[in-house]
Amino acid sequence: MTIAVQPTASHFINGAYVEGGSEDLPVVFPATGEVVATLKLADEALVDQAIAAAKAAQPAWAALSGVERGRILRRAAEIMRERNRELSELETIDTGKPLQETLIADAASGADALEYFGGLAATLGGEHIQLGADFAYTRREALGVCVGIGAWNYPIQIASWKAAPALACGNTMVFKPSETTPLSALKLAEILIEAGAPAGVFNVVQGAGAVGARLVTHPDVAKVSLTGSVPTGRKVYAAAAEGLRHVTMELGGKSPLVIFDDANVENAVSAAINGNFYSSGQICSNGTRVFVQKGIKEAFLTRLAERLKGVNMGDPRDEAVNFGPMVSERQVQIVEGYIAKGLAEGARLVAGGQRREGAGFWMEPTVFADVTDTMTIAEEEIFGPVMSVLDFDTEEEVIARANATDFGLAAGVFTNNLARAHRVVAQFKAGTTWINTYNLTPVEVPFGGSKMSGVGRENGRAAIEHYSELKTVYVAMGDTEAPF
Ligand code: NAD
Repeated sequence: MTIAVQPTASHFINGAYVEGGSEDLPVVFPATGEVVATLKLADEALVDQAIAAAKAAQPAWAALSGVERGRILRRAAEIMRERNRELSELETIDTGKPLQETLIADAASGADALEYFGGLAATLGGEHIQLGADFAYTRREALGVCVGIGAWNYPIQIASWKAAPALACGNTMVFKPSETTPLSALKLAEILIEAGAPAGVFNVVQGAGAVGARLVTHPDVAKVSLTGSVPTGRKVYAAAAEGLRHVTMELGGKSPLVIFDDANVENAVSAAINGNFYSSGQICSNGTRVFVQKGIKEAFLTRLAERLKGVNMGDPRDEAVNFGPMVSERQVQIVEGYIAKGLAEGARLVAGGQRREGAGFWMEPTVFADVTDTMTIAEEEIFGPVMSVLDFDTEEEVIARANATDFGLAAGVFTNNLARAHRVVAQFKAGTTWINTYNLTPVEVPFGGSKMSGVGRENGRAAIEHYSELKTVYVAMGDTEAPF
């Protein structure tokens, strides 16, 4: 694979690549630190142009039948699958995630969303309510122009998870990828046009917070869907509220993974690995607080240490590599800071902890044991490959401790006791939970957070509620009476 990823132009507006903007946006390959492309940040005129294109395209797009819109989305899913390798290689260069992962979890997941919501498009509708002779019905209508704003960890997946339900409902979208990973959303825009989407239905503008802020407050925008951190979510939610815009907020987490004495240790270790080290730990729903019941603590740590010998850290373009670099210098420094805090506050380092010297942004998979609830590494989202293992004695105790956080994105439990598994998940204060697995997010099931981790849900039928609204139509069958 050669590193030649410079796109035709920086933005995609009204069905075509558009160049413009003033400031340069360098794109860096995280494995080497090399600049592999240079784009431009959008200026205000480009943002306005993209919104205007989406606004102009929306009525005709909404007027198509659901079958017609769905067909286009499903065709886009097929094209995405055909180009999976090319898209995965691009995503690997942009994010640093191993090709082994991107081949199965990025464009493939985006294609699933396009296929699923493409299939749902024809089924969307309202209900009929009989009121004696009169009756009412509801129409499910599009919101209008939606803005999507992405994080850098799953760029094409995030763009597709937002675009697919938005477009299925008859909305149009302006998407702003993270400034750290601007490339693959442009490919989604290309693919949608190729699949037959009219110009302006899906547009991409590049930029950082300032461009995001302009999109969120634009008077022609009806809805904002953000994937990002809690601090950004608070700002975007507040800005959207000023215009009473609809929002979906997919934010950060510090999720608990609770492992009881009776669990299958091998599976629990697998889940802890997936939930802490996949994508070098840069996953919002990661189970970074691993609560292990005292009876199996040593067995768990011993087996985890053995399994960590299987880490193959290296050039993410090599399909045998299963652990890549972090996305940026900044992110690796944030993680180094947390590791230093963990050591200073008395956590026991049992694996990793070191940055790999040389070019690129490499951090070893790191495990701390004997972590307590008030240590910084147990309280704050690190967004890197750092697992904290905490001990517990009883079910009641672990539920209280698992929930003692402002976050509420996800939670998992491992136990062979069926009743306990359901009892525990029912008490988790989290939007997305798993029993005897972790971090599986198929498009058919709703995904999202509680408390500070989010508002609304992506995926599943639930997402439709967040990209459409109901209009009520009351139909009188007789005369209209009045008091005078
Ligand atoms: P971030 O909050 O720094 O940025 C997210 C996006 O918001 C970027 O595109 C950024 O340019 C934009 N932005 C920043 N300020 C803005 C503003 N004032 N107005 C509008 N847009 C603005 O997050 P990040 O560092 O890119 O991603 C990591 C975070 O995302 C982590 O907290 C992670 O947990 C979270 N995340 C959540 C999910 C989820 O589905 N819940 C998925 C992936 C990542």
